Amino acid sequence: MYRILEVVDTELPRDRPRYLMGVGFPEDLVEGVLRGVDLFDCVAPTRMGRNGAVFTRDGRLNIKRAEFRTDPRPLDAECDCAACLRFSRGYIRHLYVADEMLGLRLLSLHNVHFLVRLMRDARAAIRAGSIDAWSRDWLARYHTRPVSTA
Ligand SMILES: [Zn+2]
Repeated sequence: MYRILEVVDTELPRDRPRYLMGVGFPEDLVEGVLRGVDLFDCVAPTRMGRNGAVFTRDGRLNIKRAEFRTDPRPLDAECDCAACLRFSRGYIRHLYVADEMLGLRLLSLHNVHFLVRLMRDARAAIRAGSIDAWSRDWLARYHTRPVSTA
């Protein structure tokens, strides 16, 4: 996908928005922005949330894991979404395991908020002329933690 984006970059008009449909993982959004994409839409943040997967600044985690049963931390310490400001990983895990709809909603809300904030930060980096350094730092930190989806 990244290679094809680089190929079409030279073919598409620069003064028109570029839309990449069906791409919604954080790392793919950053890589897409680096290759000229302006718009994304995807079910990933809500589908992943409904399956217990959480986007965090330090990589992806799965709230179903037993290690989060009594975890008092928010899903992502740097997130200011309604779920992270009010609820712990332990509580949200409890909701998820108990099949409470609120758990799925909070996870989806967090993941969507995470991507909206990610794109806000990318826009700020583009305006500041620092998108290359920002994306390099962002991706390095995101990939420091192995994906935990078991
Ligand atoms: Zn959050």
